[in-house]
Amino acid sequence: MKKLIVVGIVILFFNACKNNSKQEKVNDPNSQEIDVKEAQPNEIKEVKKVFRTFENLADTTFVRLADFSDGFAFDMRYATDNNFLKEKVYDCAECYTRVKTVKALLKANAAFKKSGVKIKFYDCYRPNSVQYKMWAIVPNPQYVANPKKGSIHNKGGAVDITLVTLDGEELDMGTDFDYFGKRAYLDNFDLPKEILDNRKLLKETMEKHGFWSTRTEWWHYNLQGSHKDKIANFKWNCN
Ligand SMILES: [Zn+2]
Repeated sequence: MKKLIVVGIVILFFNACKNNSKQEKVNDPNSQEIDVKEAQPNEIKEVKKVFRTFENLADTTFVRLADFSDGFAFDMRYATDNNFLKEKVYDCAECYTRVKTVKALLKANAAFKKSGVKIKFYDCYRPNSVQYKMWAIVPNPQYVANPKKGSIHNKGGAVDITLVTLDGEELDMGTDFDYFGKRAYLDNFDLPKEILDNRKLLKETMEKHGFWSTRTEWWHYNLQGSHKDKIANFKWNCN
């Protein structure tokens, strides 16, 4: 027993020495600093991103939102199987919408940023052919708009969104995107205050910038007047 304790103490001492020597190595100016200096490039060139302007663009033209600002976050769920359809229905993740919708979104996002948050997109414009794909998977008007009639997503005036902090952390809205049930209803006030406050910030700011909400989906916003636009089947390039 005595022998075991002595061996234990020797091992502990040996490890302590090893740790010390590691510490010394990290602090050793000869080993660490040279590496850091070598890793530094001689010249760091700042690449300034040039965004598109609205010049010469009609309000109804379809454009890529990210070409106008890098201030948004994206999680395009229908380009993955992480959605209520459990199927990927877009060839690639892109957020396209009409110019007038982009203009309103830029203004809304500038207002959100004053509260330390920004918009994150789950879905934007949705080609009518994709609406047909969705309808084939879930042919129930309670969950998917009939493609013959079309959704405002097909008209380039609807967006499915939430709010994230400037570091990208999602605010608690009470349910995930595309949760179909009472907990996702905007007139369900039987929820913790934090959730109600987050939904209120989203709704009030979007309404102030020309959007209207739907009662049963906290994430869905339509640009005013966009229901009058034509159903579109423009498809973005994935290459
Ligand atoms: Zn929607």
